[in-house]
Amino acid sequence: MNEDKAQDATEDPPTDALPRAQIREPLPSLVLVSTPIGNLQDLSDRAREVLSCVNVILCEDTRTSAVLLRTHNIRQKCIALHEHNEEAALPRLIEAMQAGQRFALISDAGTPLVSDPGYRLVRATIDAGLSVSGVPGPNAAVLALTLSGLPPQPFLFTGFLPPRHGARRAAMAALRGAELAGLNATHVFYEAPHRLAAFLTDAMSVFGPRPAAVCRELTKHFEEVRRDTLATLAAHYTAVQARGEIVVVVGPAGQDEEGAKSLEESLRVALARMSVKDAAAAVAAATGLPKKQVYKRALELLDQG
Ligand code: SAM
Repeated sequence: MNEDKAQDATEDPPTDALPRAQIREPLPSLVLVSTPIGNLQDLSDRAREVLSCVNVILCEDTRTSAVLLRTHNIRQKCIALHEHNEEAALPRLIEAMQAGQRFALISDAGTPLVSDPGYRLVRATIDAGLSVSGVPGPNAAVLALTLSGLPPQPFLFTGFLPPRHGARRAAMAALRGAELAGLNATHVFYEAPHRLAAFLTDAMSVFGPRPAAVCRELTKHFEEVRRDTLATLAAHYTAVQARGEIVVVVGPAGQDEEGAKSLEESLRVALARMSVKDAAAAVAAATGLPKKQVYKRALELLDQG
């Protein structure tokens, strides 16, 4: 045996053994635990350990989480914490943590708070001077970004856009406005399958025919990543109804648009992609100029042809 490497039980353990001990003593008041996004085997050992140690697991839907917890033989008490009761539950939860209770927060899938409940609890826990920690793990947005084949950084995660056509287009136009002001990021969106075709059609008209990826059912049996232009993806999902859970990744603005700094250049780029109203709104947002002035200039440019 190598004398140098021999470890006496009375010595401090090697640092790579510390995280397990740290999890047990003392546990933070609140631990955010990421759980699988489809494949139940994607729960980490440390996640399982924390979920087995806390007094209570706060979960979005106790029935959904029961499947995961049963699979991993975790028998801790579960309480539902969702969008509709989070605010009202805060005083009771903070009081319990101050009395020494330890909570884990999980969502139905993936990383809590990411398009999921929990932000208000984290904020209140921090404000109460209590400790918050996390066990990282699956997240659909980051997995889709890495599988998309599109530049991984900078990236802008917007989550779900508004479901209605007008509001969705306005949200996309605002992002386009940010691009015209210099943002050069890959975009990551969550979308429901029944809205995918309409989403892609809007994205195509606002962002143009740039590269994108539709990532479906990640980590599950029918996982699929379809990489193509927004135009081709829009045509495909207009013809074929999408199923399952979906992340849409849209590549950054093209090189040809990077130099579009002046009002006129920005407007020309925007007018090639959008209606005059959307283009004026996007450029006004990007430049900080009054909407009326930008709209008037857009009409002039259209007249000039
Ligand atoms: N907190 C989760 C996370 O960390 O990814 C996201 C929760 S959000 C309510 C649910 C959305 O995430 C789905 O509608 C879908 O857009 C995306 N999503 C979740 N699981 C997915 C999967 N396995 N494949 C593709 N998208 C997924």
